[in-house]
Amino acid sequence: MINLLIFGPPGAGKGTQAAFVAQKYNLKHISSGELLRQEAKDGEFKDEVAKYLDAGHLVPDELITKIIKDELEDTDKKQGVLLDGYPRTIKQAEFLDSLLKDNNRQLNLVINLELEDDIAISRIMSRGENSGRADDRSEIIKKRFHIYHQETEPLLNYYKNQKKLKHVNGRPDVEAVKKELEETIEKLLNK
Ligand code: AMP
Repeated sequence: MINLLIFGPPGAGKGTQAAFVAQKYNLKHISSGELLRQEAKDGEFKDEVAKYLDAGHLVPDELITKIIKDELEDTDKKQGVLLDGYPRTIKQAEFLDSLLKDNNRQLNLVINLELEDDIAISRIMSRGENSGRADDRSEIIKKRFHIYHQETEPLLNYYKNQKKLKHVNGRPDVEAVKKELEETIEKLLNK
């Protein structure tokens, strides 16, 4: 069983690529953004969660961590997971390590989908026209990048120290990125 994390700035293509990888390797795709958008629609704390999402702020660690914990505990013990969008802070990463351990799992690989801010921003702007996401607006996008660099990017070092980090260039088209991701994962499986 493998457990993966897909990492990268907003707009790098994490969601698209994660859906592909999850299907190909039969992993459960756990997308924190999707889970939170669902929660904001009809969850117990919907008004509170929607406030954070619409402003482009991170929801509190405790809230997202509880949601991820429930998802992990609901996953078939034999099925691997693909985490997408969680963790986003060092605190979440530390919690995830212990949570995975409690579930007899460990992260095998962290894939960083690399993309420069300006390209990522223009991708989000063009997605904004039809994504229906309230946070795909220019002031909010700026805020999301700021938070990414401040809070989330330091995780690269965290996983580099754990020797789990691999970089994949997110610039080429979707098909080319898929191929590079596949090669990276095949290498892991053949080890
Ligand atoms: P995403 O779909 O990954 O871009 O996430 C959309 C939004 O959900 C983010 O801008 C945050 O408001 C929230 N979010 C997603 N994942 C997390 C997380 N791990 N911690 C806190 N907030 C999150």
